[in-house]
Amino acid sequence: MRTLVYTAEIDDRFGAGKVSSRIGLSSPAALFNAQTQLDREIATEHARQPVHCVLVDECQFLTRDQVKALSDVVDNMDIPVLCYGLRTDFRGELFGGSQYLLAWADKLVELKTVCHCGRKAGMVLRLDAEGRPYSEGEQVVIGGNERYISVCRKHYKQAIEQGSLDAIYGRQEPA
Ligand SMILES: [Zn+2]
Repeated sequence: MRTLVYTAEIDDRFGAGKVSSRIGLSSPAALFNAQTQLDREIATEHARQPVHCVLVDECQFLTRDQVKALSDVVDNMDIPVLCYGLRTDFRGELFGGSQYLLAWADKLVELKTVCHCGRKAGMVLRLDAEGRPYSEGEQVVIGGNERYISVCRKHYKQAIEQGSLDAIYGRQEPA
């Protein structure tokens, strides 16, 4: 089985052109940006050597046209396309790619992460360099000091309202 693996050019957490899983497996990956003509690239590869499957990581960064192009790969070339990514950003807004994947995908599988309280962690908090949550600013920040944690909706709201993680982890005593 030959699988073409793509990941977003924007994501450099694991070094360029590599998709890694949390259990330590990794695979080389082609990079896509908003200009990448995915259907053409896949057709070219398929003509060279048959492609059995396409995997797109960080699919929230796909454009509407690219999601359409991937649906053409499924419908016209009969190649299954699996996309993996985030539903919403740190403001609770849909990513563009995710919006159209949610609308047009044949099958949706929700991978569950758990908030520290045990509820489903469906929201993403962005933390600044001091670890304070905030919900303003650009959807994508490259090379900043912010980090992200997954929390449930209730604790997302509390963290944004309070501007701290106290509601999630309890108040930290000063060391
Ligand atoms: Zn929670």
